[in-house]
Amino acid sequence: MRLKEKVALITGGSSGIGLETALLFAKEGAKVIIADINDEGGQQAVARIQEQGGTAGYCRADVSSAADCEKMVAFAENVFGKLNILFNNAGIMHNDDGDAVSTEESIWDLTMSINVKGVFFGCKFGIPALRRAGGGSIINTASFVAHLGAATPQIAYTASKGAVLSMTRELAIIHAREGIRVNALCPGPLRTDLLMKFLNTEEKKQRRLVHIPMGRFGEAKEMAAAALFLASDESSYMTGTEFLVDGGITSAYVTPE
Ligand code: NAD
Repeated sequence: MRLKEKVALITGGSSGIGLETALLFAKEGAKVIIADINDEGGQQAVARIQEQGGTAGYCRADVSSAADCEKMVAFAENVFGKLNILFNNAGIMHNDDGDAVSTEESIWDLTMSINVKGVFFGCKFGIPALRRAGGGSIINTASFVAHLGAATPQIAYTASKGAVLSMTRELAIIHAREGIRVNALCPGPLRTDLLMKFLNTEEKKQRRLVHIPMGRFGEAKEMAAAALFLASDESSYMTGTEFLVDGGITSAYVTPE
């Protein structure tokens, strides 16, 4: 087992990438804390982990709240004794996020408060716990849009993921000598609720698919596998990276017919 004796906290663990990662981490021996605002999804995830013989707990936490982030880290330490892995994964892509002219300030602020401040708060309260555990691994979910502009505009989301990527680099440098590794996971377009709700017509889906060399959306499970590598000691010499798992989209100039 690749995460034996580890305790992992996953934000946004009730759905999509976070859920698949929680299931996989638990299979690999980790004790998993799911932090989310979707209580039903979180409780169901815990039940699924327990059914497969794993150990997990759910903690309601809105990552845009400092008090909630402090609480979720305390939950990990109080219930499971320590924290080794922090997956700052919760994020939103709002339907009303568009171009600079049409996007309301409230959508910008909401997106930044969850996607960027949520990662900051996770680290603010998670890093002291990782120090107490003697080091650990932080994974921040950014996106391929931190690298590429999209013709389907989502100005706040794109800016937020750029911020996650640059924050990850600085965190990695600052904490490298404390045995804390910090890497970004940059997924390509995935077949999860988040993107399918945003690309809500067949035309919009095809508009995105045409750019992906593999010709398909990625799966949350494929991100979980990448997160497992970054969480485990197998990536022990990796920090500050932008781990792209994107079906080749960021390498493509022209995609095959
Ligand atoms: P998802 O919508 O399936 O899951 C996101 C989870 O985050 C949900 O369980 C939701 O309840 C939770 N969440 C939302 N706001 C929260 C908050 N304030 N506090 C705590 N939890 C909150 O989406 P997903 O596709 O699994 O996305 C996970 C991450 O991956 C996000 O950061 C997203 O931006 C990123 N990402 C997704 C794609 C994609 O194509 N789906 C691509 C690149 C990056």
